[in-house]
Amino acid sequence: MIRSPFLAAAALALLTSSVEAADTKVSWRPAEPRVGDVALLDVHGPADGATVEGVVAGRPVTFYRDGRGYAALVGFDMELAAGRQAWRIGIREPGRPARSLSGTVQLGGREFPVQRLTLPAPMVDLDPETERRAVAEGRTLRSLYRTITPERLWRGPFARPVATNEPGTGFGSRRIINGQPRAPHSGTDYSAPTGTPVVSVNDGRVALVAEHFFPGRLVVVDHGLGLHTLYFHLDETRVEIGDRVVRGQPLGTVGSTGRATGPHLHFGVQVGAARIDPERLLTLPMRD
Ligand SMILES: [Zn+2]
Repeated sequence: MIRSPFLAAAALALLTSSVEAADTKVSWRPAEPRVGDVALLDVHGPADGATVEGVVAGRPVTFYRDGRGYAALVGFDMELAAGRQAWRIGIREPGRPARSLSGTVQLGGREFPVQRLTLPAPMVDLDPETERRAVAEGRTLRSLYRTITPERLWRGPFARPVATNEPGTGFGSRRIINGQPRAPHSGTDYSAPTGTPVVSVNDGRVALVAEHFFPGRLVVVDHGLGLHTLYFHLDETRVEIGDRVVRGQPLGTVGSTGRATGPHLHFGVQVGAARIDPERLLTLPMRD
């Protein structure tokens, strides 16, 4: 017999992906997220002016007010192990004692293909100076992704970054380049001719415009609350750091700068440190 409502909620969560306790309901969109997914954690019940905080899989998540309650965007990194992931939510409302809810979400597994690539040796076996440059650039990007702008800048659904109909390819591929295992492919590639416009997938602020060894000419857009979108291998860029951009606004054009075998857009999505499947962001049902 479980007497504590919190423990009852946790026990219930073992059986379902949503938890209802007293006047608060917690649920996931999608209900059964998989490795590499971005998901929304919905909390219904707390009144306007409540403070909602949460931790999922050991990492803090940031809640915002949406059409029907509170929601947080949660990224499940492409290399996270499938299985149960714990969550905990704390709610403070004026005039009421603070309360907390906890449970688990079943994270589904996903098979990623192995991709074998042959590239010119100087793009793979780097000389020490280039190696140092690439490592420093990687570090710069990772620390940028961990920057959490406290305000939500995106609104509504996400648009495609290029005006083509072909699906993006290659997310999560375990790459073997010139016979050596390398970091998995953390974005999706859209092949398109050089000069094809690349647009921001939603409203945000340009966090970085740079030229890096592997990504080539790149733009990073900060959409707030830890969500960043990345546009690599650009031929030209048309924005500057600090610019406010809106959904569909051109950021630059498709190219093949950096380590690219031909003209394409490499499009990446980060939710904090989590590398997630961009296609899952583009199809996420938004409620405002
Ligand atoms: Zn790519």
